[in-house]
Amino acid sequence: MKLVFLGPPGAGKGTVAQVVEKDFGIMQISTGELLRAAIQCETELGIHAKYYMDDGNLVPDDLVMALLKQHIDTSECKSGYILDGFPRTIPQAEALIDAEIQIDRVVNFSMTDALIIHRLSGRRIHRETGRVYNLNPDGHPHPPADLEDNMLVLRKDDRPDAIQTRLKVYHEQTEPLVGFYQKRNLLLQLDGAKPSDVLCEEIRVALGH
Ligand code: AMP
Repeated sequence: MKLVFLGPPGAGKGTVAQVVEKDFGIMQISTGELLRAAIQCETELGIHAKYYMDDGNLVPDDLVMALLKQHIDTSECKSGYILDGFPRTIPQAEALIDAEIQIDRVVNFSMTDALIIHRLSGRRIHRETGRVYNLNPDGHPHPPADLEDNMLVLRKDDRPDAIQTRLKVYHEQTEPLVGFYQKRNLLLQLDGAKPSDVLCEEIRVALGH
């Protein structure tokens, strides 16, 4: 089973992908995570990618495609995978077709800009574990009460100016993929504002799992 998780930043793709990964026994491949790992390791690709990512812009298609192919070709991905945050442009979707990678279903998490801005501005990452928390009163999950504030960091691309850029980039370059996959009858539309456990159940039902 090969799935694509599509949607604006902060729509909950990653959280749901972690559950679906376990449920379906297929690998979550988040290009954002792969790029952040490359930055952490200060690889040539990471140094190049950081320049785009910090400001909320997309990393060039050829770099992301090369990184993705390295992972898809590993044995862990044999039984299938969830592409979380890939493709993000029409040329990336076309590159999948050119590489003869056949996607079974594309799950689109839709959400309003106002809710995206609200969610991303409250998002914090645990410095050591990488766990994602949300500081908003209605945010989920809340950091544990005994966690020191300095253990939580704001992702550079979750700063207000970078969020605005990411939204603009999303509408201009990624949103056209909804029509691209709709035309190919692959789309499953979900409301990203719903809680993640509800979204997971909707995916299970839709995919007959
Ligand atoms: P994410 O963790 O999915 O929100 O991705 C964080 C950032 O990584 C994005 O804002 C982009 O700069 C970069 N990125 C992740 N996936 C892609 C992709 N498929 N194409 C280009 N850039 C990407």
